[in-house]
Amino acid sequence: AAGLTLNDGVVIDEHARTSDPAIVAAGDCASKYISRYGRRVRLECVPGATDQAKLAAATLCGKSKSAVSLPWFWSDQYDLKLQIAGLNTGYDEVVLSGDPTRDRDFSCFYLRGGELLAADCINRPRDFMFSKRAITQQLPVDRAELMLGGLARS
Ligand SMILES: Cc1cc2nc3c(=O)[nH]c(=O)nc-3n(C[C@H](O)[C@H](O)[C@H](O)COP(=O)(O)OP(=O)(O)OC[C@H]3O[C@@H](n4cnc5c(N)ncnc54)[C@H](O)[C@@H]3O)c2cc1C
Repeated sequence: AAGLTLNDGVVIDEHARTSDPAIVAAGDCASKYISRYGRRVRLECVPGATDQAKLAAATLCGKSKSAVSLPWFWSDQYDLKLQIAGLNTGYDEVVLSGDPTRDRDFSCFYLRGGELLAADCINRPRDFMFSKRAITQQLPVDRAELMLGGLARS
């Protein structure tokens, strides 16, 4: 109704601005280009909503704030802490650390051409923190090190 440009959601730029300079958008309704994945994504998650809200608030206050945004998610399901870094699409290899049939903590790392694209971490906060950084900064990763899991990294 406001005449904003739409593409699966309200199209926003890296400053949470819509096609109308007087309107910002954030959260589930907003569709943002994520350069790390080369495509537009509309996230439905709390971290995405709060990160975009900070950008929108900065824009409204005239403080241009641009951040490298990596999609990430979390959920607590009973004793399982699920933490997901990045988007696990377009991968050509999965490296598993731990045994999901036996362990209450394990991680799945998704790679493309040897580069880390995403990680699903179950009760592995250190793997999650490492993955967020490695994906954002496009750090080289070692498969053997990934398989050893978070305890191998300080
Ligand atoms: C069952 C469920 C489980 C989820 N679990 C997780 C999880 O584990 N982890 C995670 O990261 N995310 C989870 N999510 C997603 C997360 O809740 C959303 O991504 C997040 O709440 C989006 O925030 P938002 O501010 O964009 O939208 P919302 O939280 O939906 O807020 C939008 C607000 O706008 C109000 N509103 C709507 N229309 C109007 C109007 N016309 N005028 C005034 N107000 C209006 C609504 O009442 C609402 O309060 C879950 C969602 C659901 C439904």
